[in-house]
Amino acid sequence: MSSVRTIYQMKVLQINDPTPKVRELVVRCHEPESFEFKAGQFVMLHVPQPEGKPALRAYSIASSEKQKDGFHLLFKYVETGKASEYVWALKGGETLQFTGPFGRVFFQEPPTEQIIFMNTGTGLSQHLCYLLSKKEQYPDLKYRMLFGVRNETEIYAQDQLDELKKELKDFHYEYVLSRPSESWEGKKGYIQNFLTEFEYKTTPTTFYLCGNGGMIKDVKHQLVDSDGIDKTRIWAEAFD
Ligand SMILES: Cc1cc2nc3c(=O)[nH]c(=O)nc-3n(C[C@H](O)[C@H](O)[C@H](O)COP(=O)(O)OP(=O)(O)OC[C@H]3O[C@@H](n4cnc5c(N)ncnc54)[C@H](O)[C@@H]3O)c2cc1C
Repeated sequence: MSSVRTIYQMKVLQINDPTPKVRELVVRCHEPESFEFKAGQFVMLHVPQPEGKPALRAYSIASSEKQKDGFHLLFKYVETGKASEYVWALKGGETLQFTGPFGRVFFQEPPTEQIIFMNTGTGLSQHLCYLLSKKEQYPDLKYRMLFGVRNETEIYAQDQLDELKKELKDFHYEYVLSRPSESWEGKKGYIQNFLTEFEYKTTPTTFYLCGNGGMIKDVKHQLVDSDGIDKTRIWAEAFD
């Protein structure tokens, strides 16, 4: 019987580098043979240290809760970071250790008519997990996503999001670049500056925020303090 104390041995099946600073790991269960979680949860990666206990780092699962034999994770490279250096040294085939699942930022059911996702960097992971886990059950909801990255070189997951666009009746996403090149014709600045473009005052909406803590604070402030939105409609996971 597995518990949160179980250490899962998972094999690195695939490594994808969609940008120089984002790495996706696809891992498969080795021992125990399966891993179950609920969409929105995270795992702790055990990062071996030269001396003493491993360093533990949290990563939100970026794949469907329906998959029981492994999962995908998205890592942002942090200069000299313990986990970052470890993950960027991987070549494939290694066995990694994880504990979990942890966290209570679940997809709220029954869902509201509109779902708004606001994420930065690898904060996409939690929202991808919701979409991949729930798309068959709730294909008709109005899904909106603002995805904040610094510049064009940090854009990733376009193919996966376009695929979801085809599968869902009403899903729109947009990248917002805080420091784009001059030729960028899309949205510029911080994602929180574009919140008011959504019709959340008249349409029942649930908000999911993930990634940068400053963004989460700003969005909550606007929604709760300025717009009077009920706190129970906002679900957030800060990575820092
Ligand atoms: C619930 C939860 C879920 C998370 N999910 C993800 C995820 O899906 N993907 C992901 O990439 N990260 C995620 N994180 C962040 C992750 O746990 C690590 O903090 C991050 O990967 C840095 O770890 P590190 O060992 O490489 O750096 P550390 O050795 O911990 O830090 C090295 C230095 O970098 C600074 N630093 C730490 N984190 C950041 C950061 N994010 N940006 C800039 N500087 C930083 C530290 O202050 C320190 O000075 C999550 C965090 C939480 C709490």
